[in-house]
Amino acid sequence: MAPAGTTESPLRVAIVGSGPAGFYTAEHLLKQEDVAIEVDMFDRLPTPFGLVRAGVAPDHPKIKSVIRVYEKTAAREGFRFFGNVEVRPSPSGGRPDTGSRKPNQLTFDDLREHYHAVICAYGSATDRSLGIDGEDLPGSHAATEFVAWYNAHPDFADREFDLATPRVVVIGNGNVAADVARMLALTRSELEETDTADHAIDALAESGVEEIVVLGRRGPAQAAFTNPEVRELGEMVDADIVIDQAEVELDDLSREFVDSGDAGPTNTRNVEIFAGFAEREPEGKRRRIVLRFLASPVEIRGAGKVESIVIGRNELQRDEIGAVRAVDTGDREEIETGLVLRSIGYKGEGIEGLPFDERAGVIPNERGRVTDPDTGEQMLGAYAVGWIKRGPSGVIGTNKKDALETVSALLEDVAEGRVFEPRGDATADAAEKMVAEKAPDAVTFKGWQAIDEAEVGRGEPLGRPRVKFSKVEEMLEAAKAGAKT
Ligand code: FAD
Repeated sequence: MAPAGTTESPLRVAIVGSGPAGFYTAEHLLKQEDVAIEVDMFDRLPTPFGLVRAGVAPDHPKIKSVIRVYEKTAAREGFRFFGNVEVRPSPSGGRPDTGSRKPNQLTFDDLREHYHAVICAYGSATDRSLGIDGEDLPGSHAATEFVAWYNAHPDFADREFDLATPRVVVIGNGNVAADVARMLALTRSELEETDTADHAIDALAESGVEEIVVLGRRGPAQAAFTNPEVRELGEMVDADIVIDQAEVELDDLSREFVDSGDAGPTNTRNVEIFAGFAEREPEGKRRRIVLRFLASPVEIRGAGKVESIVIGRNELQRDEIGAVRAVDTGDREEIETGLVLRSIGYKGEGIEGLPFDERAGVIPNERGRVTDPDTGEQMLGAYAVGWIKRGPSGVIGTNKKDALETVSALLEDVAEGRVFEPRGDATADAAEKMVAEKAPDAVTFKGWQAIDEAEVGRGEPLGRPRVKFSKVEEMLEAAKAGAKT
């Protein structure tokens, strides 16, 4: 038998997940010319592109244009997409409830039948918890849910949020928290220019929200926002930005952090922008975005639902290894709110049959090679890339370099003969047959293009980029209708 990687016997690669990491991986694999490779990409949703479709804020359409690059990859010879096919998560996964929806499933073992390599690119779908009392009260949600809801992710389309409340508290000081605050403050006409889910446009535009309080556990010099995201908070059409002068005064540690240059340009600029905001007089706009620093949630209170949140005041101290930490001063403040959105980070989950580092929320790996956590040995033919490889940080482009690292590791393994021998027939036909048997309503890339066309068509008469489907059944119907034409 010819060795895998020749034209007669291409190396068969399954990529699990069709977000940026999955697509950059496919691009690197299919672009190189040393090894003949065929790629099948699987996603649990009928629609590709991961968080570019279901995470990136709808009012940032330019960022979503990276999809054009992924479409070029999808058009390469040797690429196939199978959407609406989930690779079975570990039972302890902690994935949010998908309700009555039971996605088609394959297992990691099924993939081992027909592929020389399985590359996990399935991102981080669950949220980290705060570990405080009241966190599970109705009205306290992970930002993951809220983001997925306004982006029409089918597993979250039916979620309800108390948007009648006059005050929402957003916990976190990263760009996702900024996205959430902005989305809560957009006007109807701003929302209607976007591909925000229909159900969310009405709910957000008609909400009773007057104030959005964003809490950062550390100071303004340590906030993780990037500059454009901070600036945007001060440029809202119908929301004032409010920061108390006292909030932007730097304590000694932060002053030293900025003055020494250790803070770097982004944090230093953030401090300047915040200081500018603090000097502004509110213009009496319909809503206010209030930034608070050195403030941690201590308890969420309410009888049967969220009614208030207790905030603890922090101060910054250096710990024994010299890192700056937020330390509780014991001061408390309680503010009324009906909705708390926790944006403190995404978290990955395991896939059945693969090792998983529960604490870090990633697949244990070395430069993308999956390793056994006990022995440190490589698990032949298994790789990881993107958020599930390195944790939920970095922008879309970070995944491109990351994918190159994983692909380089895989190609090195092939060159050195470290290739997993599939248990069954390693051909495109055999893999397709398995998918047809186990996932009869899988969506091909052509099927996705039909969904895409239908969504764009729904948007056209309204002057919107697209009107997204938020139900899997609607997506499957559009995919099928497209296949007939
Ligand atoms: P993902 O994009 O999450 O893709 C994972 C894919 O795997 C998904 O399609 C998912 O459906 C699929 N999947 C999950 N489990 C399974 C399974 N068991 N079987 C099969 N498929 C599965 N970056 C920017 O540069 N600009 C921004 O404006 C920006 N905004 C963001 C906003 C939010 C709310 C978030 C959370 C992130 C944002 N990012 C942004 C970061 C960027 O989205 C990530 O860096 C990137 O999406 C990570 O890529 P990934 O491929 O690892 O994961």
